[in-house]
Amino acid sequence: MRIEIVDVGPRDGLQNEDETLSPKTRAELCDRLAAAGVARVEAASFVNPKLVPQMAGAEEVMARIDRHPNTTYAGLALNQRGYERAVEAGADEVRYAFPVTETFAKKNQNTTVEEGAALAERLVERARLDGVRVSITLSAAFGCPFEGRVEPKVVRDLAERVGVAKPDEIVLADTIGVGVPNQVRALVKGVLGFGTAVGCHFHDTRNTGMANAAAAIEAGATVLDASVGGTGGCPFAPKATGNIATEDLVYLLHGMGHETGIDLDALIECAKWLSEQLGKELPGQVHKAGKFEPVAG
Ligand code: ZN
Repeated sequence: MRIEIVDVGPRDGLQNEDETLSPKTRAELCDRLAAAGVARVEAASFVNPKLVPQMAGAEEVMARIDRHPNTTYAGLALNQRGYERAVEAGADEVRYAFPVTETFAKKNQNTTVEEGAALAERLVERARLDGVRVSITLSAAFGCPFEGRVEPKVVRDLAERVGVAKPDEIVLADTIGVGVPNQVRALVKGVLGFGTAVGCHFHDTRNTGMANAAAAIEAGATVLDASVGGTGGCPFAPKATGNIATEDLVYLLHGMGHETGIDLDALIECAKWLSEQLGKELPGQVHKAGKFEPVAG
């Protein structure tokens, strides 16, 4: 099966790193990912740079990217203004995210769940008029850093509501890395059938990220977010750690017989390059351990 990987490294990955990379280097990361065959890159975050200084210069990142014909470039938006900025900056896709719990919604983007969902509906309509792709991410869908347990029904109901507007995909995000595979399977199956592709976004905070990714694919998700090298976190989610590493995910998916269109060798080089740029060892494992050809089936 063909699985779409969205490398969110330039955004989710770098936004929580101590080292702030220049827009030039962030654009180069996008170029290296595209050259490795990554068909979708989340290139920049159109949030207030005062709140997330690592993401300052989003417009410059977009302008500096050497657009690869086989890659689309997305911008993250948390509000209407972010959407406008992303479209003006030339994003092919806007990924709008809103939390499914009130406390996280208030703390992360000073809104309510109701306002978040209503804006999702409006942005999907706007995106259709503007001719850009739009995906809706339900943040903290597997657990909230402030409220704890999140009932699957809450997530399903929000996905159903947003699904009526027909975004290009709905992404279930495990923002703080608390999910487990049976939960993932149930939630993905519950959201399939609302008329859009289903994606998942996992953090490896409790080492369940890869198991969750495999469970999501088995349950019918066709899109997975990951960040090269496994960088990442969330500035507003205490102790959230990195996204699952793209190179580890590609190794797993290819080994299981799925296609991603990604050249794993090139991706491994990209992870090593990023490690040098950040001046630290990154959590991803395949770029350190190397490739192997597993016997599938
Ligand atoms: Zn994330």
